[in-house]
Amino acid sequence: MPQSFDVTIQQIIRETPEVKTFRLGPVPESFDFDPGQFVTIACDIPGDRRIRRAYSIANPPTRKGHVDVTIRKMDEGRLSRYLCDHAWEGMPLQMMGPYGKFIFKQGMGNRLVLVGAGSGVVPLMCMVRYARDLNLDIELTLLYSSKTWDHVIYRDELEGLHEELKTLRVMHTLTRVNGHEWHGFRGRISKQMLQECIPTEAVADALYYVCGPPQMVDSTVAYLKEIGAPAERIHVEKYD
Ligand SMILES: Cc1cc2nc3c(=O)[nH]c(=O)nc-3n(C[C@H](O)[C@H](O)[C@H](O)COP(=O)(O)OP(=O)(O)OC[C@H]3O[C@@H](n4cnc5c(N)ncnc54)[C@H](O)[C@@H]3O)c2cc1C
Repeated sequence: MPQSFDVTIQQIIRETPEVKTFRLGPVPESFDFDPGQFVTIACDIPGDRRIRRAYSIANPPTRKGHVDVTIRKMDEGRLSRYLCDHAWEGMPLQMMGPYGKFIFKQGMGNRLVLVGAGSGVVPLMCMVRYARDLNLDIELTLLYSSKTWDHVIYRDELEGLHEELKTLRVMHTLTRVNGHEWHGFRGRISKQMLQECIPTEAVADALYYVCGPPQMVDSTVAYLKEIGAPAERIHVEKYD
């Protein structure tokens, strides 16, 4: 059941040059959500009207008392630009939620294929953190598309996570490799990348979670179906 809360920004963490995580709280222990869900944030922007936007919850439900949202600044975007450029620790906001059916919960499946682009990694990271906290015995593959290595959100955490979560494989693709050495995938998510990431024998029984801009989600779903992923096992979240 969605609820509404008056929260403040308790902490601001710079993730990349254009992305920040905002820790919102206090949030009562009774605020329950599933990995993959989102909240909406409402904020009065000086000189503008009250703006309300959706943001995926980045922290897993195993870590309560706050809600983390990770926001990419869009150059002409009203709320994302305002928050990334002008928000301060202690700033009040209104938060509503949780919402959404893009959900993974313990018991739903033993093999997850997570495919994200840009800030689309946020709800997928929530699922990964949840699996880590509960020490779930599941295979996780994350295929993550970013512009450059400097644009990879949660980069350090992802680099270190395989120590705690041995069954996690993270595969990056970069759409702009600026001359530096790079041994991962290059370019947008392709059918060939998906084939390389998902063992043939696992295609039929994996659960798929795809999140990012609508075009990326649509093309990824089409490729997944072409390689044999059952439509009913594919979950999507589009960041319109
Ligand atoms: C379920 C869901 C979850 C989401 N989770 C996240 C998340 O975790 N992290 C995240 O960063 N985002 C997330 N989003 C996207 C987020 O909700 C916002 O859409 C995003 O932050 C942009 O909002 P904004 O107010 O900054 O931009 P807006 O002002 O809404 O502008 C959006 C785009 O439209 C363009 N634009 C604006 N005005 C004009 C105009 N007059 N003419 C032409 N173009 C214009 C802007 O350049 C910008 O590119 C999510 C979206 C959904 C639906």
